[in-house]
Amino acid sequence: MNGYFITGTDTDVGKTCVTAALLRNLLDAGHHALALKPIQSGCRETPDGLVADDVEIYARFSTPYFPNGYPEACCHRFAPACSPHLAAELAGTSLNVNELAHAVTELATGHDLVLVEGAGGAAVPLGNKQTMQDLMQRLDLPVILVADNKLGVINHALMTIRMLRDSGLDIAGVVMTNTTRPDTQGILMRRNNTETIAHYGNIPILAEIPFIEQIDFDAEYIRHMAPAIRHLTPSPADDSDDLTFDRDHIWHPYTSAVNPLPSVKVRTAHGSRITLEDGTELIDGMASWWCAIHGYAHPALLDAARTQLGRLPHVMFGGLTHDPAIELCRSLCDMTPNGLEHVFLADSGSVSVEAAIKMALQYMQADGQTQRTKIFTIRGGYHGDTCGAMSVCDPNNGMHHLFSGLLPHQIFAPRPTCRFGEPYDPASLAETTRLFEENSHRIAAIIVEPIVQGAGGMYFYHPDYLRGLRELADAHGVLLILDEIATGFGRTGKLFACEWADVIPDIMCVGKALSGGTMTLAATVATSNVAQTISKDGGVFMHGPTFMGNPLACAVATASLEILQQGHWKTQVHAIEQRLETAFGPCRDLPGVKDVRVLGSIGVVEMDTPVNVQRLQAAFIEHGVWLRPFGKLIYVMPPYIITQDEVSRLGSAVFDAIAHHIHE
Ligand code: PMP
Repeated sequence: MNGYFITGTDTDVGKTCVTAALLRNLLDAGHHALALKPIQSGCRETPDGLVADDVEIYARFSTPYFPNGYPEACCHRFAPACSPHLAAELAGTSLNVNELAHAVTELATGHDLVLVEGAGGAAVPLGNKQTMQDLMQRLDLPVILVADNKLGVINHALMTIRMLRDSGLDIAGVVMTNTTRPDTQGILMRRNNTETIAHYGNIPILAEIPFIEQIDFDAEYIRHMAPAIRHLTPSPADDSDDLTFDRDHIWHPYTSAVNPLPSVKVRTAHGSRITLEDGTELIDGMASWWCAIHGYAHPALLDAARTQLGRLPHVMFGGLTHDPAIELCRSLCDMTPNGLEHVFLADSGSVSVEAAIKMALQYMQADGQTQRTKIFTIRGGYHGDTCGAMSVCDPNNGMHHLFSGLLPHQIFAPRPTCRFGEPYDPASLAETTRLFEENSHRIAAIIVEPIVQGAGGMYFYHPDYLRGLRELADAHGVLLILDEIATGFGRTGKLFACEWADVIPDIMCVGKALSGGTMTLAATVATSNVAQTISKDGGVFMHGPTFMGNPLACAVATASLEILQQGHWKTQVHAIEQRLETAFGPCRDLPGVKDVRVLGSIGVVEMDTPVNVQRLQAAFIEHGVWLRPFGKLIYVMPPYIITQDEVSRLGSAVFDAIAHHIHE
């Protein structure tokens, strides 16, 4: 949809006449334009129903262009002249931003340009904690602010401009109106108001409408709005240059610099939806590599970021500390299993794994066990892309062959054969035990992803196996590191996956969902035993990244953990799990499918052979969903706030892709 959203600093600023006059100018300039009023309160009651006066004004200004009458231009009409949230409540209904946005898009069909006029200002409530600003964000049109030139306008205009910019909206400019007659002194003041708003708000003034007497009212308005047209560039930007630059100069994850898979340009993301540059809306099945658990642009996370941005975006952590870090680490100590009490803040999951490995080695050195320098792990794991982390990733599907001269050699047990949800066979730990006992004198720590091996194969193993690893570590004085970066914060149906086995690690890595997918942040949390041993005799833990404890990331993470602590995630993840079972079930019968498995909010279809990512990605976009398969795996890990219907749509997109596109 192409056009502008028209809002005001206030009610009664003359927004409707500005909209109608702009519409007329656009029609005169050859556009097939339409002005819309999503919500009209204060409608006149007539025998034919409620009449929206604003729409009548659009019709009056543009009469020659709509000989058969003005088209339907209003989604909701209410009689009481009050805020939409109250008007809707009094009418026994409620307003919803998504529905409003769809209704507006429908009304706009067939027009090359629409003017959407809000009700009142941007902070006007629509109900359910949603405001006009949310609707503006959903529609994502550039905004025209109408400001009535009078005492107080500078403050109102600058506050609205700040608010709109903070919410990521483009502001096309300000139209100044004069709904009251100025006295001689007032003329000077009003001129200064306009200049001050332009200067302090760093914004163009699109038009100035003087005080207009009733005589030839419409023509005057239309004439004074004409200059606005020059500032407006209503055609959508051509982004083909950007995509060419992106392809030629920007490395995306795991891609060729010369022949990369195509990237799709995203404009915004809200809740469980990603909107592409061309307006296509996709249901998000990936939670951006599993981190955006509360959905995109969650208001609490954005508020936390904005407040912290205004206070202290960053400061070094060496010798300095701050509330955001203290608050976050307090929450982490509370939420992680008992005994994990010392938090090291890292800037990514991989770095938190490096920190965990270094902690284990420093622990053994401080304990006088200097021969214990190896890490023991299981095949099929994934722990990150930095060197230490890579060394414990699966040696076959990981990157060992590329960096064989560089990576330390670790000890690998087979991937556990005991599957989650099936009876446990103790024999599955036999080879692991043998290898471990044979090497235990040189092992500092075991590292595994608890219960779910993520990027190494989306494989779910039995909790008793994890219990077995804990017992082996205890029996031999080895530390257990659990990498909960993918599984932590509810993804598997437990707050931490280690709870499936009632196992508490010595060191735990968390990341991804920690900041709700808004900022890059991870943490390595250790027991007092680990921390005190490393620090005995004056020892210090040797790691300290520049952006360690970044206050902005910490503040957002605290907001994310607060949402989790409210506990809705349990019902959300359970509901997703049940719906995934139904939605993915039919894939079991399709040719080429090796296995279908679901745990918590993770749904996986494993194919017999690797899939064509490029072809599938295009098919998924066609289907209105965002999924990014890898290897033989097509999987979903959606935001927890996804609806049941959206999960079903992910399921049918996967079914359809396998049924029709995989063998093309
Ligand atoms: N460990 C696990 C289990 C992961 O899934 C990942 C990321 N997929 C990492 C570590 C690395 O985290 P990051 O990408 O933030 O470095």
